[in-house]
Amino acid sequence: MEFGLELAAAVAAAGSEVWSTTMAKTQLGPSTIEAPPRTDNVIQIERVSKVYQTGDIQVHALRGLSLTIRRGEFVAVMGPSGSGKSTLMNIVGCLDRPTKGRYLLEGVDISTMSKAQLADIRNKRVGFVFQSFNLVPRTSAIENVELPLLYAGVPAGERHKRARGALEEVGLADRERNMPNQLSGGQQQRVALARALVNNPSIILADEPTGALDTRTSVEVMEIFQRLSREHGLTIIIVTHEPDIAAYAERMIHVRDGRIDSDEPVRERKEAAEVLLTLPSSSADKDDDEPLGNL
Ligand code: ADP
Ligand code: MG
Repeated sequence: MEFGLELAAAVAAAGSEVWSTTMAKTQLGPSTIEAPPRTDNVIQIERVSKVYQTGDIQVHALRGLSLTIRRGEFVAVMGPSGSGKSTLMNIVGCLDRPTKGRYLLEGVDISTMSKAQLADIRNKRVGFVFQSFNLVPRTSAIENVELPLLYAGVPAGERHKRARGALEEVGLADRERNMPNQLSGGQQQRVALARALVNNPSIILADEPTGALDTRTSVEVMEIFQRLSREHGLTIIIVTHEPDIAAYAERMIHVRDGRIDSDEPVRERKEAAEVLLTLPSSSADKDDDEPLGNL
């Protein structure tokens, strides 16, 4: 229904306004943050197929997959290697288009858009986090976070302010001048997360975000994801091989042979903030958090 879609787009636009306002209000604390409506469908995938053609060989990576994800949902995607998880993430993240079927992002049909239009939507609406962090070396944390804003032509003062806000959001305000090689793996992933957040995206896509992290720093990253989805209504989709990590999401989707095999709420969902209290602090953080005199 046309009207329904327009309404969804309007609500979605209002949602991102709330998010930009909350970015400015970060310092006031979580109690002042207003959660955006959770009923609208941010991601609507309708019978999407993706066929890769390499020479004479066709690979059916997605086979008529349908999926709807609401604003603020935190979803974990699991499945065997080659089942189509990355293909699905590429389509959701507007890096690629379906061969068949429709994909609506915030009510807007992107399946027929040009590459330039896709790039524009992607820059405004999607934040990516990768297993390997992908930070620019010999470039400070804050400059890394500012990069997407630099590409978007945001003036320096505003860039700095927003990058600072994003670093505060991930608990790294005191590390803005550090180079990536002066940060622990967990801290680097948090900088990457701040960089994904700084454009006020609607969705965050993370392919194996904790693949290179130890237990505690993995849970720290999950704590940030849980907070962002709850307090800011950010829609978060992670791909993971680890059931322990998927247990922090609220919904678990298993993909097999390019189709959804199961799609269920996470039973006995784990609370990252609570789990963190039971884990010893990591050595990288301990060195900084506790003055030498206390040891
Ligand atoms: P997963 O992320 O679950 O491991 P992928 O989405 O990467 O799975 O791949 C699904 C299928 O599509 C696999 O058979 C893979 O080999 C194939 N595939 C993925 N990307 C390409 C590509 N760019 N060209 C050809 N085949 C591809
Ligand atoms: Mg993959």
